[in-house]
Order: sequence, then structure tokens, then C-alpha cells
Amino acid sequence: MDNSHLAGNDDYIEGEERFSQIPCSTLEPMDGTCHIILAQGEGALAVLDLAKKTSSDFWQKTHLAYVPDNIEPNRTSQLQDLNPRWFYEWPTLDAALPHVREIFANSKQGSRLYVTGTHSFIGIIFQQAHNAGIDPYEALAERRGPKTRRIQCVHCKGFMDNVATQPVTCSHCGVLLLVRGHYSRRLAAYQGVCINAEDTSEIPETKELFS
Ligand SMILES: [Zn+2]
Repeated sequence: MDNSHLAGNDDYIEGEERFSQIPCSTLEPMDGTCHIILAQGEGALAVLDLAKKTSSDFWQKTHLAYVPDNIEPNRTSQLQDLNPRWFYEWPTLDAALPHVREIFANSKQGSRLYVTGTHSFIGIIFQQAHNAGIDPYEALAERRGPKTRRIQCVHCKGFMDNVATQPVTCSHCGVLLLVRGHYSRRLAAYQGVCINAEDTSEIPETKELFS
């Protein structure tokens, strides 16, 4: 497939390892035998934009899954109106994951993957796709909604979703964490490292960075 449209976009999930990055761009129709589209929250709007560039036979071979995540307004009926061959809706990512794994396990060669929503959502879906052996070059991602991040505390190994500030207090062990640029595709999370190990009375100013 032609990846040239990915070049030069600046919405990468930054990472120190080149291959840990997930390229985010704009969803475009790809040639494929089957399309698997997973949208979370405001990602529904990216799917509706994608639909403007597709013909009706695209949707005849499409699995469209929507995770509204309590975002208003709910876009379910607009997505159903696209007439995908298979439509699914699950309230949260946790509820969706067993089904997503099943869709990936049953996907045939030539399937194309489209993922849209927050970085956390995209990261976790790509982690599942990677585990299922889906080639990242047959996948596109588009970030929509807040730029919050999923963090793993390196001290207690606990995960936190939707982190919007720098630094952030670990909700598991209470350590004040610096969110590093290092993104692990395997863990689908950024690293959080203690910011004031030398002197815990030193509390840097908290900034909204990722919202
Ligand atoms: Zn912790």
C-alpha cells in the first residue's frame, strides 16, 4: 500500500524508539478484501469523514465497531446509516476488547485496519493487532478527542489512563511522575518516572500538557 501520505505529518505518538511509534494521520480508504474500523468517542467523526471518500461497496466488506465512551452526542445512528456489513457497539474499551480480539483472530489476509479515537485507544488497539499478527503497514490511525496519554508508573508498574498533566501523581503508589517521551508499543503506554526522587518536598508546577 502507498504510505506516502503518512510522511511529514506531525501527529506521531512520540517515542525514543523509531519502531515504537504509531503513525497517526487521516483515515483514507485502502484497497483490501475486508475493512475493520474501530472508533472510540469523537473518532466517529473521522469515520464519517472517511465515508465521504468511499463507495457503497466499501461498506459491504466492512466491520464497523464503535465505543462511544460516554461522549455526547452519541453517533451510533449516523454510523449505522453507513450500512456496514457488520456493526458492533460496546460501551467501553474493556467491554470491546474480547470481541476485538475475536475479530482480529478471524481476519483474513488482505484485511485493512482503521483505528480512531484517543492515543490511549489507538495504542491499545494496535497492541492487540500486533499480538494478532496484523502488519502495521496495513493499518491507519487517526487521533480524535483529547490528547490524553496512558501511562505506566515504572516504580509500581501500575497503569493510568487519560493522563492530561505533567507531572502526574501515580494513582497506585502516590509517587510524583514525570511523563517521559518514551512510548512502549508492547505496553501501549508512556513511561512515568519519579520526578523528585532526590527531594520529595520539591513539587514542580503541574501543567496541562496533553488535553
Ligand atoms: Zn506507581
